[in-house]
Formats: sequence, C-alpha cells, structure tokens
Amino acid sequence: MQPSVIILLGAPGAGKGTQAVRLAAARGLPHVSTGDLFRENLKQETALGKQAKGYMDSGKLVPDELVLDMLFARVARPDCAHGYVLDGFPRTLPQAEAFARRLGRIAPVAVNIVVRDATIVERAAGRLTCKACGNVQHLRHAPPRVAGKCDRCAGELVQRADDAPHVVTERLRVYHEQTAPLVGYYARAGALRELDGEQSPDAVFHALTSVLPPQEAGITPRL
Ligand code: AMP
Repeated sequence: MQPSVIILLGAPGAGKGTQAVRLAAARGLPHVSTGDLFRENLKQETALGKQAKGYMDSGKLVPDELVLDMLFARVARPDCAHGYVLDGFPRTLPQAEAFARRLGRIAPVAVNIVVRDATIVERAAGRLTCKACGNVQHLRHAPPRVAGKCDRCAGELVQRADDAPHVVTERLRVYHEQTAPLVGYYARAGALRELDGEQSPDAVFHALTSVLPPQEAGITPRL
C-alpha cells in the first residue's frame, strides 16, 4: 500500500492547521507542520531556530534549503511510514519540486482551502495562540472560557508575532507571489482538490474528507 501523503494548501490563516489536526487524528497519520517545527526550534533556541526567527517575525519565508532539510528529516521518522498530513509545506515551487523528487513514485494529494484575503485579515486580528501547547483560539470564533487562558491547558494565550496586522499583509503578499503558483502545479499533475474554506470548521472538515480518496486507495496519479 502506498503511503498517504496529504498536502494542505491555502493562504496563511485559511484553516490548514485546524483541519490538519482533525484529519491527522481521523486517519491515524502524523500532522507535519513546518511552521510548528520552526516554532519548536525557536523555543529550544537551536541554530536552525535562530536562523529562521528573523524571516518568521517579518512574515517572510525561511530559505528553501533550511526548510527542506528539516522537513525531510521529519518525514524520515518511522511514524511517517504510512503517510502524513502536511500543513504549511510546500510553500514555493522549488520546495514542491524537491519534495516530488524525494517522494519518487508516491503520489500526494493536494487540497487547496480557498479563503478570501479580507477573511484572512479578520481571522488573524483575533487569533490567540497558547504559549504552552500551541492550541489556537479566536476572540470571536473560539473565545477562551477564561480570558487570556488556553481552554485546553490553561496556558497563556498570546497573539503570535506573525499575526500582527502589518505582518499578515506581508504574509499574504508572499503567499500570492510564491505559494499560490503551487495550486497550478498540483492541478497540472492531476493531484489538486479544492474546497471553500469560508464555512464553519465542521463544514470544511466534511468537505475535506469528501474530496480525499478513501484511506486505503492510492489512486491519484504520480507527479
Ligand atoms: P505557519 O505556521 O505555517 O504560518 O509558518 C510560520 C512561519 O514559518 C512562516 O511565515 C514562515 O516564515 C515559516 N515557514 C513555515 N513553513 C515554511 C515553508 N514551507 N517555507 C518557508 N518558510 C516556512
């Protein structure tokens, strides 16, 4: 059986993280987020974290070679043997091409979660992230039961530096310039599915599971 490699595409704040967590749980696959891997490196103050920090804080992409080494090391771990759900990777054409070479005969499925820029800006403005466990809440859409405290672990909820309005604008610009072309790349490979990300998280999840092939079938064409 082919490993099931699922790529979630979409603007920063389209809901990839939320959906990736649910999908990974539903399919028994690891959730691999390059953003989370970088944040973990930042927290641990590794050399990679120090190299990535300036790019992340200003809404820029971390250079491809740093991303690729980190991602390839992560997906080489045994828990990824049957597949994984990618969130935030790939983000540039060279990343997608290097990843396709690495996958060889394994055919990924890419799902584009479509959300308008205006919605992205509104979501980022209210988003709160737990400093301790990474859980994401929202002032309007998922308000904390106790102000400033994570519903899951009671850790401190903060606005991520890259959710600040001027950084969100920059991340959207970078998204349209460097990441949006991946939609065409995966469409040409016959590997693209699209869904409307401006619905409730439950409705998006329903749409997501209905555009994906059933768990066992490795039926998408190879890149
Ligand atoms: P995210 O949580 O996916 O929005 O990622 C947060 C930040 O990490 C991004 O704004 C980038 O600076 C960096 N990052 C995450 N994934 C990638 C990637 N695939 N390529 C380049 N930079 C990335």
